[in-house]
Amino acid sequence: MTIKTIGVVGAGTMGNGIAQAFAVAGYAVTLTDVAQAAIDRGLKNVDGSLERLVKKEKMSAADKAAAIGRIVASTSLDALAGVDVIIEAATEHLPLKLEIFGKLDALAKPEAILASNTSSISITRLAAATKRADKVIGMHFFNPVPVMQLVELIRGLQTSDPTFAAVEELTKAIGKAPVPVRNSPGFVVNRLLCPMINEAVFALGEGLATAQQIDDAMRMGCNHPIGPLALCDLIGVDVELAVMQVLFEGFKDPKYRPAPLLVEMVEAGYLGRKTGRGFYNY
Ligand code: NAD
Repeated sequence: MTIKTIGVVGAGTMGNGIAQAFAVAGYAVTLTDVAQAAIDRGLKNVDGSLERLVKKEKMSAADKAAAIGRIVASTSLDALAGVDVIIEAATEHLPLKLEIFGKLDALAKPEAILASNTSSISITRLAAATKRADKVIGMHFFNPVPVMQLVELIRGLQTSDPTFAAVEELTKAIGKAPVPVRNSPGFVVNRLLCPMINEAVFALGEGLATAQQIDDAMRMGCNHPIGPLALCDLIGVDVELAVMQVLFEGFKDPKYRPAPLLVEMVEAGYLGRKTGRGFYNY
């Protein structure tokens, strides 16, 4: 199958970035969301993001207009009936995703591939909600989608080789780097990154050093561009906690237990940049 058209479910942080990446690469994109306000915000975000590229002379105004012209939006999933690949990037909530996959299975054309951008839900489980489990796969993009190179491609137990090959080729076609990963809690990046951040929170809680000192140590000692606690504030302290809980539940291994201070920060509402306070004040 030659993939020409892409559907995106969810126009939030990830969905509008995914729509942008495909539209810039020449694909016709249908962006859907239950909320018209989310679509409006999403399209505004794409416009702003491409406008910055035009200002930096990394994209022509004509190319920007062409990319925007390749995105159509709808508040109905039915708009995705004819597309080749649908990428689900809706809210991270299992019952919601199971419902969306059931609906997509019923309305998408038989040969269409259904992908999910989920960070923590089992692709095997989502695939089982459809009658085309061999055509279901995880495409885990990173934020911000237009600039991050990696896409983890998650094979569910049922994912077929042709589905994997088609999505691998598609990922390369938009200039991104696919890394194949077996379906497992946290996949690869979150499995390694989030325990490191969690350990930094343990270190802070135990009084090993201040937040700034911990971050300076990791920046200068490991050449990380940003320290783990500043990164936690950027990701969202609540999001970090949610990932640790997924790892802890998924593996039942105490090495993944969330740091007590991480839990308390979330209880206090200190969620990082988005609330103006996390390990640092903003
Ligand atoms: P978000 O809250 O910014 O956007 C989610 C969107 O889904 C909202 O606009 C919401 O209105 C919409 N939505 C809810 N129910 C829907 C439905 N039934 N049909 C269509 N749209 C619906 O969330 P996000 O950060 O973009 O995350 C989306 C997905 O991407 C999640 O599965 C998340 O785990 C994953 N993810 C997020 C990140 C990140 O850094 N934010 C990174 C990788 C993967």
